[in-house]
Amino acid sequence: MKRIGKRALDASPHGLMRLYCRILLSAGAAVFILHGVIGFLTNFGDKYGPVLIGMDAVLLLLGFMSNELVINAQLQKNRRPRGWLLVFVGLYLILLTSETGGLASPFFMLLLVTCVFAALIMPGLATVLLTATLAAAHAAAAWLVPNGILRDGWEGVMSAVQSGRQMHLEEVTAIAMNSAFLFLGAYIAFRLSADFRTKVHTLTDHATRDPLTHLPNRRGFTEKMRHEISRAERYAWPIAILMIDLDHFKRINDEHGHAFGDEVLAAASQILRDTVGPVDHLARVGGEEFAVAAVAADPNHGAELAQRILRRFREYTWGELKPELRVTCSIGVAALDTSRASNNPDASLSKLLDDADRALYIVKEGGRDNYHIAESGEAPVLRTTNTQVRS
Ligand code: GH3
Ligand code: MG
Ligand code: MG
Repeated sequence: MKRIGKRALDASPHGLMRLYCRILLSAGAAVFILHGVIGFLTNFGDKYGPVLIGMDAVLLLLGFMSNELVINAQLQKNRRPRGWLLVFVGLYLILLTSETGGLASPFFMLLLVTCVFAALIMPGLATVLLTATLAAAHAAAAWLVPNGILRDGWEGVMSAVQSGRQMHLEEVTAIAMNSAFLFLGAYIAFRLSADFRTKVHTLTDHATRDPLTHLPNRRGFTEKMRHEISRAERYAWPIAILMIDLDHFKRINDEHGHAFGDEVLAAASQILRDTVGPVDHLARVGGEEFAVAAVAADPNHGAELAQRILRRFREYTWGELKPELRVTCSIGVAALDTSRASNNPDASLSKLLDDADRALYIVKEGGRDNYHIAESGEAPVLRTTNTQVRS
């Protein structure tokens, strides 16, 4: 990745969560040191001082634990970072807010940051629920314990409930303003991240999909296959690749024009779509070349699929596109050797594609409209089924 300035921001959900955890850690460390120094200088005159330092230490610990959890989630490739962490941290921050100046507490800023980061990584409804919960908890804490739960104690809470404590206008205004800021921060962050996610989705789609047939392109296919091959090697699942190349396609272009060639390509992709199974991966990997990966299927599935594709091409009513038109294809098949885990999906994929390409070349040499299974010594599951289907 090209770096912008010193270091590019990792704007993935995991990256944002890690950034948030670092903010939490830094805030915890800063207030821990600050309170410690002030406490030391004033000889801990207020007996409440050590309690405050203890609470800072808990914040520091929360930041540290969150960081560890997020890193673990990232290492285990969990798709969602631990969003629920933010709920716990948010509620703890409300406790800190109520202990340190209530509505004017600097910890409220950290609560706002929590809502902003939640909105960056969580779905819309979850963000609204989290922000509403934290805003309500913040308001309740401000009403129940004006001097902090630890200072007023349980009696403070009970007396506020029993007396139905009337809040001052300033308090109500501050709660309303604070809550509005929580929602505003979350809303702006959510809109920004939604816009960012849409753009990333669109760009990814453009980079990995072919606009003519709407099939994945070579890049999309390679990315998917990398994942499939490491799974197939781990669980010893059979996987076969079919390289399909339209025969004498240049002639079609030359005789009928490029635009008509595109129509034929679209029709060919539709035949393939209708023929391959829902779990198999189909892609347009070159001009008039397609690839199919038959995943976790019967070991002979590759050969059967090749026969079916050839048959569907022969039976297709090409005459509806242009009278006298006939389009055939040639197919090279290669199977993954799952008995030897290579731990290098890229190398396995490139070998599979090479084998399938070589098999395809043999069909072209032999007259086209046929299939061939790679004779590589590393394709044991399909080696014996090299049946030719031409009648
Ligand atoms: P063979 O049977 O040996 O594969 O012969 P061929 O003519 O199919 O193969 P060749 O590689 O000589 O030609 C492929 C042609 O496919 C050349 C190129 O103009 C055409 N082609 C590639 N991409 C597109 C496309 O997107 N649209 C159209 N209409 N033609 C394309
Ligand atoms: Mg070709
Ligand atoms: Mg061709």
